[in-house]
Amino acid sequence: MFWNEFKIDFDFFPFRTFGTKCAKCTRWICSSDWVRRARDSSTLIEQVYHLACFACDACKRQLSTGEEFALFDQRVLCKTHYQELVDGPSDESDGKEEEDEGKL
Ligand SMILES: [Zn+2]
Ligand SMILES: [Zn+2]
Repeated sequence: MFWNEFKIDFDFFPFRTFGTKCAKCTRWICSSDWVRRARDSSTLIEQVYHLACFACDACKRQLSTGEEFALFDQRVLCKTHYQELVDGPSDESDGKEEEDEGKL
């Protein structure tokens, strides 16, 4: 499925490395901050976010561990809003361009 390309690993851990900026707010991450890491499986670029910054850009909902999301144009999107972005707002059908092929 299309979505699998965008399945991204992420972890939740106390970040110990200095010199990393949050990909969302671009502030430096302190050693005491809790962060999430997200690796884009298509570019293999790893981004680091503050815990509070790791939220869907559309609905502002914080994403939890194991939840599917996508990095799109430097923005974090939940699965729902990512699909809305690529497919356009539509119904729950599988969304392929099958039109009326199956009808008699
Ligand atoms: Zn941040
Ligand atoms: Zn969302």
